[in-house]
Amino acid sequence: MSTEPTAAPTQTTTASATLLDRASRVIPGGVNSPVRAFRAVGGTPRFIASATGPWLTDADGNRYVDLICSWGPMILGHAHPSVLEAVKDAAAQGFSFGTPSENEVKLAEEIVSRVAPLEQVRLVNSGTEATMSALRLARGYTGRDVVVKFAGCYHGHVDALLASAGSGIATFALPDSAGVPRSSAGETIVLPYNDLGALEAAFAERGHEIAAVITEAAAGNMGVVPPAPGFTEGLRRVTAAHGALLISDEVMTGFRCSASGWLGREGVAPSGAPDLFTFGKVMGGGFPTAAFGGRADVMALLAPQGPVYQAGTLSGNPVASAAGLATLQGCTPDVYERLDTVATAIAGAASEALTAASVPHTVQWAGSMFSVFFRDGEVRDYDDARDQDSAAFRRFFHSMLAQGVHLPPSAFESWFVSASHDDAAVSHVLDALPAAARAAGTPD
Ligand SMILES: *Cc1c(COP(=O)(O)O)cnc(C)c1O
Repeated sequence: MSTEPTAAPTQTTTASATLLDRASRVIPGGVNSPVRAFRAVGGTPRFIASATGPWLTDADGNRYVDLICSWGPMILGHAHPSVLEAVKDAAAQGFSFGTPSENEVKLAEEIVSRVAPLEQVRLVNSGTEATMSALRLARGYTGRDVVVKFAGCYHGHVDALLASAGSGIATFALPDSAGVPRSSAGETIVLPYNDLGALEAAFAERGHEIAAVITEAAAGNMGVVPPAPGFTEGLRRVTAAHGALLISDEVMTGFRCSASGWLGREGVAPSGAPDLFTFGKVMGGGFPTAAFGGRADVMALLAPQGPVYQAGTLSGNPVASAAGLATLQGCTPDVYERLDTVATAIAGAASEALTAASVPHTVQWAGSMFSVFFRDGEVRDYDDARDQDSAAFRRFFHSMLAQGVHLPPSAFESWFVSASHDDAAVSHVLDALPAAARAAGTPD
């Protein structure tokens, strides 16, 4: 298999390869999150030594324009001065107290003020924890056990939510995860995304057992698949009619698609608001912090006020909270405008280059999140998303990498940009696209 690009300076990857070797001895697969391992695209994952603005520098000294942005959090760019300052200031005051502290209050206030229907949030350490806790809360509130999710949506590696999940599960074409108890999977109903008919049928049959429907506000973990017109409203209508809660997972879209998230960008009426939200990624600014929240009467069920237990030694960590707060405060209207400009420039040029090279493709959007599917025609659900030419993506990916552009190493992930992607960084990406498109169109 030759994936050598045409016009690229030769990259040395010896240091990354050596680190992968060392890593593989003490860490399964050499990585602490599967998609990082490059298994879907082949080759040596780059071990990043440092990053600033839109640029990554790997252990061999190669530089890349970053189109992963830590899978979303680095919305202001790497090592942004105001976030760095906030982190240093907070760290100087101590790292973790195991008591309440002011930074977590400020972060919670910022989140609640940005997301109109949100009344209360609780801070946790990862998106996975947020969805896991939201699910437990929904079950506690309704006294029901069954949860509905959509194929291709990823909500973290929560047992009940791994069925037909996107992200790494999609990347590696895994049936589902081993180690999930049958009893747990049995309480999950998986339906096709964007299919209200299927939802209505499931509720007609088992509505009295269903605690919640969880959905990505706009799907970004099978590539980007926005909700079809009426889908979000339909979820609200059907869940409300059956006394089930609606959980909108905005871990990826929150504070990225707009100052609040996807639903904020779309302007959902208060009556259409979900009962619970989950957030992560951007709100931690690159540190492990996330949140779930929603209606005060539902949140009131959480311990210590109510009977639903949920806790965390490092939850609301003062340094992570400071990083998240500084990041959110940095997310001004100018930032969102720049994200849109950068995303439009890169997606437009990618499409042009692929068209010129006669490579079938479709670009899809959710705000400034976008992805390129290597297939013709609209992608509405997971079946569509899986029906693409992943070998063409692999060739495209490696050509871009060799030319100094680091895409997500999977055809099932959104591309992420930051407000620090200046004209030089964007030009660097645009210059790489034609050769990558030709590589994509040239089977090995
Ligand atoms: C990333 C993601 C998660 C999981 O968050 P982690 O912090 O990786 O646990 C959950 N839901 C969505 C929509 C995500 O994109």
